[in-house]
Amino acid sequence: MPYNSYMDKSDDNVASLPVADDSLPSAAGASLQAADGQAERDRHFMGLALAQARQAGAIGEVPIGAVVAIGDRLVASAHNRREVDADPAAHAEFSAICAAAAQLGRWRLSDCTVYVTLEPCLMCAGLMLQARIARCVYGAPDPKAGALGTLYCVNADSRLNHRFAVESGVLAAESAELLRGFFVALRGRGAAGRGETGQGAAERGGGDG
Ligand SMILES: [Zn+2]
Repeated sequence: MPYNSYMDKSDDNVASLPVADDSLPSAAGASLQAADGQAERDRHFMGLALAQARQAGAIGEVPIGAVVAIGDRLVASAHNRREVDADPAAHAEFSAICAAAAQLGRWRLSDCTVYVTLEPCLMCAGLMLQARIARCVYGAPDPKAGALGTLYCVNADSRLNHRFAVESGVLAAESAELLRGFFVALRGRGAAGRGETGQGAAERGGGDG
């Protein structure tokens, strides 16, 4: 199940990521200095996404957060609200992209970078295609649902009409630790015993980034 993969132990999922197409807006700057600046910006925005993830955890949601930025400017942020909204589409990055489009007054987000703490699923990667985003930066890989390098490479499929750059592993340890801690706590409260779809699977283990 998307979003619940970190309940499974898996230490063999170190991201093997698609290399960004040269023609795409890319993390690789013309100079080392530019690359350093980009890495610093990536960590900054991923820190904001992690803060969103903590907000999700605080309301009992799987702790995943996302922000959308244009260069140095924060456009929108959101966190997972699938349970509280009873909405299967309320994934952090999905909501952040929709909020960014509303904020900007346009659906085409070709100047936007989406930062999300966990590798996007097929639905969210699909929305990234639809929104024509420039780039996605994510933290931890998702061995059960990841569509940007782990199970699929939706961002780099030449059959599709849009491609975008992907950067993975940014503050991945922090993201994975948040998820692991959430499911350990859930198990500690005995919630796993309820056997609910998805989160009930927490009984299987603490997960591993
Ligand atoms: Zn998703």
